[in-house]
Amino acid sequence: MITFKPLLALSAALLATTARADAPAESVAWTITADLTTEIGARLAGTDREAAARDWAVARLKALGLANVRVEAFTIPGWVRGAEAARLTAPYPHQLAITALGNSAPTPAGGLTAPLVYFATLDALRAAPDGSLKGKIAFIDHAMLPTQDGSSYGPYGQVRRAGPTLAASKGAAGVVIRSIGTDRHRNPHTGATGWTAGVTAVPAGAVSNPDADLIARIARTGKPMQLNLVLEGKPVGPLPSGNVIAELPGRDPALPPILVACHLDSWDLGTGAFDDAAGCGIITDAALRAQAGGKPLRTIRVLWAGAEEVGVFGGAAYGEAHAGEPHALAMESDFGADRVWRAQFNFAPANAPLADRIAAALAPLGIHRGSDKASGGADIGAIIARQKLAVVDLDQDGTRYFDLHHTPDDTLDKVDPAQLEQNVRAWATVLKIVANEAGPINGN
Ligand SMILES: [Zn+2]
Repeated sequence: MITFKPLLALSAALLATTARADAPAESVAWTITADLTTEIGARLAGTDREAAARDWAVARLKALGLANVRVEAFTIPGWVRGAEAARLTAPYPHQLAITALGNSAPTPAGGLTAPLVYFATLDALRAAPDGSLKGKIAFIDHAMLPTQDGSSYGPYGQVRRAGPTLAASKGAAGVVIRSIGTDRHRNPHTGATGWTAGVTAVPAGAVSNPDADLIARIARTGKPMQLNLVLEGKPVGPLPSGNVIAELPGRDPALPPILVACHLDSWDLGTGAFDDAAGCGIITDAALRAQAGGKPLRTIRVLWAGAEEVGVFGGAAYGEAHAGEPHALAMESDFGADRVWRAQFNFAPANAPLADRIAAALAPLGIHRGSDKASGGADIGAIIARQKLAVVDLDQDGTRYFDLHHTPDDTLDKVDPAQLEQNVRAWATVLKIVANEAGPINGN
């Protein structure tokens, strides 16, 4: 018996591995995530790949039995990626791993070669005198660390969102930032930046964390640095995008629907598995599971938003197009595929018992009730604001989210089928309750 034990243990482990890989692979959430990332892959907003993703989404949602499947088209200010490279030419030669930020201006032919000026923080850049960066490239560093709730993205993300326009306003000819990411891989993280009115756009890119470490070490020596920057991504004219919308009609069409959202577009470096194919898989699978055992009272409307990454254009278009149509409640999944650990609510006082029921139903899934007000997400932000909607947030574990976010590493293998399944069960639990609530549901 003793000699057999290790063998039995080994074969049991192998069986467990096989079972874990096979069983959840049959779920709607898994197949949407796997097939969208395999059959479409990267789907940058405005490109023909995003258009292909819309066609794919319409076909898949119809095949899954959803009703009223349609595309609501809109246009976005276009931006396309081009060749990108960065070479430190002084004091030591180094090739750096860089990617352009969305909305970057292109470098001139042959690239931009200029002194590289180091700023340890966004505040250090703020303190630089006006005009002091004329003809130079600003480097903006930061010290973002992983957090379970993803809260570090707000303040540190400002380096990408607000850093380039600030540097350009002080005369910088180009801007390079430490990637807004928490991994130690040599992957740069892309993401959108923007230019405030009156500021001329300049080339702006992000280097990988190890390359940012290198620049920080050299900066500490005080030796002058020089960079050759090639970023050929550039703005183009308006491009087509669109939201894909589908419904699971409820028994009472007079009741305002429950809106569940994800985004269909992705950045172009990876295949957008975590961000946000998994979100589309989670919400759609959960909406379908909420039908099991009987059609709910309220319609569940599924929104696979377009052009989120480049400026939440799909969410804005939805908010405008559906402003006059009452909604009951909105939820969004756009934070990867790791397990839900906390639920938060935004309900009117009269709906407090509803929140209590949801919290009690989620507790067996290892989800506790948080004390903050639910805020929703980017794509439902506009409609929530217009209609003061009720919101339930199912907060996912974001500890490794910013290791992958907007990098070439955002691929299907990062999605853990077991955690994906826990997400779907949590969502289905909530949808079953709220879609069967007969009384008014309002936000606070
Ligand atoms: Zn996203």
